[in-house]
Amino acid sequence: MAKQDYYEILGISKSASQAEIKKAYRKMAIKYHPDKNPDDKDAEEKFKLAAEAYEILSDENKKARYDQYGHAAFEGGHGGFGGGGMNMDDIFSQFGDIFGGAFGGGFGGFGGGGHRQARVKGSNLRIRVKLTLEEIAKGVEKKVKVRRKVQAEGVTYKTCSTCNGTGQQMRVTNTILGRMQTATTCGTCHGAGEMLDKKPSGADAQGMIVKEETVSINIPEGVTEGVQLKVGGKGNEAPGKNSIPGDLLVLIEEVPHDTLKREGSNIHYDLYINFSEAVLGTSKEIDTVTGKVKIKVDAGTQSGKILRLKGKGLPSIERYGHGDFLIHINVWTPQELTKDQRKFFEEVQEEENFSPNPQKSDKSFFEKVKDMFS
Ligand SMILES: [Zn+2]
Repeated sequence: MAKQDYYEILGISKSASQAEIKKAYRKMAIKYHPDKNPDDKDAEEKFKLAAEAYEILSDENKKARYDQYGHAAFEGGHGGFGGGGMNMDDIFSQFGDIFGGAFGGGFGGFGGGGHRQARVKGSNLRIRVKLTLEEIAKGVEKKVKVRRKVQAEGVTYKTCSTCNGTGQQMRVTNTILGRMQTATTCGTCHGAGEMLDKKPSGADAQGMIVKEETVSINIPEGVTEGVQLKVGGKGNEAPGKNSIPGDLLVLIEEVPHDTLKREGSNIHYDLYINFSEAVLGTSKEIDTVTGKVKIKVDAGTQSGKILRLKGKGLPSIERYGHGDFLIHINVWTPQELTKDQRKFFEEVQEEENFSPNPQKSDKSFFEKVKDMFS
């Protein structure tokens, strides 16, 4: 696609004076400014083209080259735009020049755009929080002590006199093609646009102090080891009245449980019953993470049987609902016998009902594992 003529873009004639070029660009920049045309790709394109046209035509050297050779003068890496156009940062850094002080402080005139001056954000703080399985099951509010950098009481800041609050300094360099203007971060305020005015005693060079604070963190149920939660605004503050504080990042750690083992949202528990209980049946009270549950163990229960308490596991963060609580039955075989007991077992061991006879319904270990994950 042929590139549109720079004079056409700005709607001016080739004989336009510098004042007219500037005026035309001002009009275009205001009309197509992104703040006025949110999400309008067409306007953004026009805005960029106008900026590019102005960048060339406002410079007598570049203008002369353009008048002679057209767009070809700036193609192929001769220090022009290489046909790639300007990015928004280039454009906004050009504004200080065109609009003067009125737009130096964050483009108030365009409806508070603030493209130029990024708000300074304090650094994030990181802490680890250890949680028990019980806490994970129900969710918990944790109070933690953090040492935050905050603005000292009574500190005041003033607009940076070096950059007039823009946070940037213009540097003009001379190149073969003429004056090139680039924006660099202000060396005095490091881009904040503000500097310390009144420093309370005890504060550092930026008016900051370190303060110990108790922060309460609401930990949702079902979190897992390694999950990172964010408490917005509870990190370090940054200097300046326009700054925003960083965040507090909370890394979750799980305290291993004595008797329970977590697997995703399921919980596994090894239940040991004695030989008689397996033969005669019994009932047991199980301490799940959400409370005690009474279970019945049928007469003739085989070792290795898994009882599944549906929905008694952990809440799942990703999916709706809860996992299961799985009880693995282990039959404890007595290791010492009295004389009478020995006699009894010797008598029964040849009897038919003592001989192993697994049914199809008694799933093998591998089938049970397969089942568990399905
Ligand atoms: Zn500054």
